[in-house]
Amino acid sequence: MDGHWTEHVSFSQLVQIEQCPYSYYMTRIAKVDVRENAFAQAGSLVHALLAGWARGELSARDLPRLWQEKYDEAVTELFPVYLETKGYRQKLHDAVLEYFAGFDGFPGYDVVAAEQVFVSSLAGERFTGVIDLILRDQTTGDFVLVDHKSSSLSSFRKTKTKMYRQLLLYAKHIADQYGVFPSRLCVNLFKEHTWDEQSYQLADFIEAVAWAEESIQAMHARELPEWLELRPEQFYCTQLCAARDACPYGNPQYHKKDEVKNHRHQQPEPAAA
Ligand code: SF4
Repeated sequence: MDGHWTEHVSFSQLVQIEQCPYSYYMTRIAKVDVRENAFAQAGSLVHALLAGWARGELSARDLPRLWQEKYDEAVTELFPVYLETKGYRQKLHDAVLEYFAGFDGFPGYDVVAAEQVFVSSLAGERFTGVIDLILRDQTTGDFVLVDHKSSSLSSFRKTKTKMYRQLLLYAKHIADQYGVFPSRLCVNLFKEHTWDEQSYQLADFIEAVAWAEESIQAMHARELPEWLELRPEQFYCTQLCAARDACPYGNPQYHKKDEVKNHRHQQPEPAAA
């Protein structure tokens, strides 16, 4: 490890570095006070409830009630104003409530583990992650990796390759622990009440590892000052970035037109939470 890294690498760190290296530096190395966002807060509650069910601590019938009870307490941040004014807070609540009301587990599969924390290696670094759900097909015995995502279907389609990279990198842990790679990778788009999956392919795994190694090597190849690049993007900076309270670009009053490169108009929703 050198001054560029915390003591381990995670997928979310790699994504953060790709999004804005300065954000990574501020939150992980300088350790400024971080601020959550409403999408992530809602997503965290869904993850916690599904993990409680998978571990046998909650029944399927508990989930809608707990979602309703805990939603306001969990989602303390505001959604972007243009979404709040359109009733997004309630719409998200209702969409997930409907998902939980119809939730009947994962028929045909056994739960192997939920929210499983692992440590492995990647490009010479300690690589850590949390796997949302590991299932085993009752017929074939195959392992299946599941990631719960709050993305809309349209956002998911735009970023599908990136989203599957996470599961591909996590697949190595399954091979390390259980001696076999998973046969399928699945994304549970709970808000959309749908599910996307693809079979595990070695070529995809190699691509995901190459992407991660390239990010890590690029970091090590540069000195800290040149590495501290800011990549402002208005929506991300003002609504999602965990360092937005400590960075001028996170504050709308600093947003003059020519200050923000890659300015994008408001996006409907973030790709993932
Ligand atoms: S607010 Fe924007 S520019 Fe500042 S650290 Fe976050 S993503 Fe980077």
